[in-house]
Amino acid sequence: MSDYVIPAPQVHVIPTEGGKEFPVRRVYCIGRNFAAHAVEMGHDPDREPPFFFQKNPNNLDASGEFPYPPHSSDVHHEVELLVGLKSGGTNIPLSEALDHVWGYGVSLDMTRRDLQGQMKKMGRPWEIGKAFERSGPVGSLRPVSAVGHPDQGRVALLVNGELRQEGDLNQMIWKVPEMISYLSEYFELAAGDVIMAGTPSGVNAVVAGDVMEATIEGVGTLNVKVV
Ligand code: MN
Repeated sequence: MSDYVIPAPQVHVIPTEGGKEFPVRRVYCIGRNFAAHAVEMGHDPDREPPFFFQKNPNNLDASGEFPYPPHSSDVHHEVELLVGLKSGGTNIPLSEALDHVWGYGVSLDMTRRDLQGQMKKMGRPWEIGKAFERSGPVGSLRPVSAVGHPDQGRVALLVNGELRQEGDLNQMIWKVPEMISYLSEYFELAAGDVIMAGTPSGVNAVVAGDVMEATIEGVGTLNVKVV
């Protein structure tokens, strides 16, 4: 028996292809990783150093439903490649970075854009706009043995069948190995860490009743209903 003074929080898991679960330790999200999205958010698309924010592990949600969150009237979709790590470390060289990847999936970085905008204006952290309950809808992670290391392929997001976001993995400013290597210089990465790899342009608002269909060529499709 454990000796905790309160009930221990559960390990949060997301599904994988094949039925076993992937335990999530940390969630790193990169900002402005597609030039066209940086431009639409009012920023210079030049290759400045990458920056990351975090969601909470239990924000990831594979239920297929996204409950419209409170305190916002401008909740945006961001379709992103999800990278799941099977191991980690510090100061990981670029040449070894992909050795730490267990698999890939499709995810949505749902964003309370109005709250994020207020925080940006005040120079405050983004958590209130990014790390809220069920803010990370995800599909099943697929192992590298099934999908390889996808570095090109169409990324698209449809809402109610209408195309909203479109890009290609080959347009990512910071590639997956670069993100892993960079993060490992600042944090100790470990098995269970996931990276949301940034979104192409076309981010926009959803309302209750909308159905989002996120697709990444070669990785999969994720359908999520806003409830
Ligand atoms: Mn994002």
